[in-house]
Amino acid sequence: MDAKKVLEDLKRRFPNEPEYHQAVEEVLGTIEEEYNKHPEFEKVNLIERLCIPDRVYQFRVTWMDDKGQIQTNMGYRIQHNNAIGPYKGGIRFHSSVNLGILKFLAFEQTFKNSLTTLPMGGGKGGSDFSPRGKSNAEVMRFCQAFMLELTRHIGPDTDVPAGDIGVGGREVGYMFGMYKKLTREYSGVLTGKGLEFGGSLIRPEATGYGTVYFLRAMLKTKGDTIEGKKVLISGAGNVAQYAAEKVLQLGGKVMTMSDSDGYIYDPDGIDRAKLDYIMELKQVYRGRIKEYVDKYPTAKYVGDGAKPWFEKADIALPCATQNELNEEQAKALVANGVIAVAEGANMPSTPGAIKVFQEAKILYCRWCERIRSRDVAEQRASELERRRGGCQAALDHGEHPRELREVRHTSRRLCQLCEGRQRGWLHEGGKGYDGTRNRVECRV
Ligand code: NDP
Repeated sequence: MDAKKVLEDLKRRFPNEPEYHQAVEEVLGTIEEEYNKHPEFEKVNLIERLCIPDRVYQFRVTWMDDKGQIQTNMGYRIQHNNAIGPYKGGIRFHSSVNLGILKFLAFEQTFKNSLTTLPMGGGKGGSDFSPRGKSNAEVMRFCQAFMLELTRHIGPDTDVPAGDIGVGGREVGYMFGMYKKLTREYSGVLTGKGLEFGGSLIRPEATGYGTVYFLRAMLKTKGDTIEGKKVLISGAGNVAQYAAEKVLQLGGKVMTMSDSDGYIYDPDGIDRAKLDYIMELKQVYRGRIKEYVDKYPTAKYVGDGAKPWFEKADIALPCATQNELNEEQAKALVANGVIAVAEGANMPSTPGAIKVFQEAKILYCRWCERIRSRDVAEQRASELERRRGGCQAALDHGEHPRELREVRHTSRRLCQLCEGRQRGWLHEGGKGYDGTRNRVECRV
């Protein structure tokens, strides 16, 4: 394989998809040498088969807003590769969504799943619909209309979507409800569901926690810890919130959080009470991060879409979106003494930024490693569920106080599920994995 030639060819065949080209370039650059040691790969043109998605669905989504007007958005599902298992990957609702962005995410997802030894393929989907500023009723009507079309392409053994930017428990719940109506089946077709109807414990926390677990492991290689470190976090969504939570639990000091309008910097640190405020602001009221300074006036807000990377700190966790940390910002981080960068988002650092980190020899983890740690977090959650086969066992688990609260909350339901859980490792929606990863039917 000549990585440069493969990339040129993809650019010619699929123009105007810069994020997809960027992701392919990063991966090809990493595997080229090893790949070329295996002529048998080239003989069957493995590289093109890995880079080009199996299938791309593109459809119109028509829905009615609260004023009774009909709106249209584009919907997509990219089924990238199912060589080792059903397609798996999130759904993103954001005004910036286009085919190229979803193709890069689906391409990466394929490697994340396989490299973490999950027996699953890779996919991604979404829409240029933005839930921002929409009422619950509008979001519901959109999700239902989206699922009306998506239903025919997914299934628990075909393609299993999850959440991503703009898609959390609310959106997954609306989509799952529609899927059930259309198919008349209750299955594990979507992950990220509410705990009450088949979701997994600490799934919402898994990505953010995983990022920080990986950060902890990186620091350990230098005999260092998170304790006392100042941490810059971008984003204020699912990943950022739980990354912040885990940093606090491990003794770090969270200095910043952001959204697409700007960021807040709190010189005293965002402590547990302040983080609870942000969680409520974002999860319940769906407000903007700038409202933080009304509540905590000693903090500052920097608007106009500013990023937090020019602030002084020890660690940076980009947890918002792709290409949110460029070369100039990377140089500022290094100049300000940052010792580690751990990516919570997908492809947040531009190639120029990565080069800066590598040349400065600071600790830096790329997406696949981060996802490995995320899946470790997910496995921990599942393991916990499995161990709960006696519900009491989970109550002894010391590391996640928040999780223990949830366990107590749901203990009645869990006790009812115990029998099923003892049979295997409950997977969302009724299929399970036992300790040896063989698929088993769960009778719950
Ligand atoms: P959320 O929608 O919960 O939060 C996204 C956050 O990033 C929001 O604060 C949002 O601000 C901000 N953001 C989005 N787009 C931009 C932008 N263009 N510029 C600046 N800020 C932006 O999403 P998640 O937390 O779930 O996802 C964050 C990242 O993590 C994404 O890269 C996603 O692909 C990745 N990821 C998520 C996983 C998950 O389990 N949720 C799993 C693996 C990866 P605003 O509200 O203003 O849009």
